[in-house]
Amino acid sequence: MLDYAEQQRAPGKHAVGIGIVLGLHLLLGWALVNGLAQRMIEVIKAPIETKIIEEVKPPPPPPPENLPPPPKFAPPPPSFVPPPEINVNPPPTPAPTITTTQVAPPPAPVFIAPLFNDFGPMRDPALEAEILALADRAGIAGSRVFEVDKSVDTNTVNAYVTGFASTKRIVLWDTIIARLDHDQLLVVMGHEMGHYVLGHVRDSMIALAIAIPLALGGFHALARRLIARFHARFGFTRLDDVAALPLFLVLIGLFNLALAPVANAWSRRQEHEADRFALEITHDNLGCAGAFARLQESNLANPRPGPLFTFWRASHPSLGERIDFCNEYRPWARGEPEVYADRFK
Ligand SMILES: [Zn+2]
Repeated sequence: MLDYAEQQRAPGKHAVGIGIVLGLHLLLGWALVNGLAQRMIEVIKAPIETKIIEEVKPPPPPPPENLPPPPKFAPPPPSFVPPPEINVNPPPTPAPTITTTQVAPPPAPVFIAPLFNDFGPMRDPALEAEILALADRAGIAGSRVFEVDKSVDTNTVNAYVTGFASTKRIVLWDTIIARLDHDQLLVVMGHEMGHYVLGHVRDSMIALAIAIPLALGGFHALARRLIARFHARFGFTRLDDVAALPLFLVLIGLFNLALAPVANAWSRRQEHEADRFALEITHDNLGCAGAFARLQESNLANPRPGPLFTFWRASHPSLGERIDFCNEYRPWARGEPEVYADRFK
């Protein structure tokens, strides 16, 4: 039987798909160079303009003599004023659930996510205590743990650590609590805490704030040069012409093709470091490998994709690589130094 990963890597399997994509791009380029975009716009514009002119043309018919008096318009109904006995009351606030750890339910995080799902306290208080203890060791003091009822929407699993100051929070989808056992869940939480403590979100936002203006500037310069050189064939002289849309799309595709490998490599490095953080804070190789094996079962990703896929598409290391790392990385067992141990309490 052919191994699934081998089968996925078989180059012949993708020849048709790659061929179609290449063909469509060539077709788009050919259409652009032949001024097809400009001609399309003319074809579309013509009937619209005629229609507008026709609608303007007919003069108003002269009013015939001896008209009956025009019907009187009924006065508009008065705008609705609720009678005083109907007062719209805000719904009563639910009574706080009394638990041993808190007097009131935590406020749901914070604006947007709660529009879609219910954020509640964790249903397993023992597990919650362990997650909070892990967060304390990771240096994330004073956070809260929320459980989200994501199982109503999806089978995929997720967990994250986000926010700052009083909105600092650890969020677990109920799907991940159902799918992973206790040890595996703690490793995954260690990974998410790693992202938070190592400042991965902040770093990525800074990088994007620098990269996006640079990319847009490059895009603009390249588009201007192309138009200056080929405007006679394109049939347009400005990038804000509607006919320039295909050029716009081709360039977006090109920039995406060129920049995706950089963004992916950046993301894969962060994910790998978060895995290292999780292993160092839990020292649980088995829980780590088991967690990724379970993720493989539920997300059905190719465990060992080929190098081209990894280069252009993979924002995370492959699950195969991550499981290998989970099994092999144990400097503490050999008395070697750990990378993040000095950050733990
Ligand atoms: Zn991650």
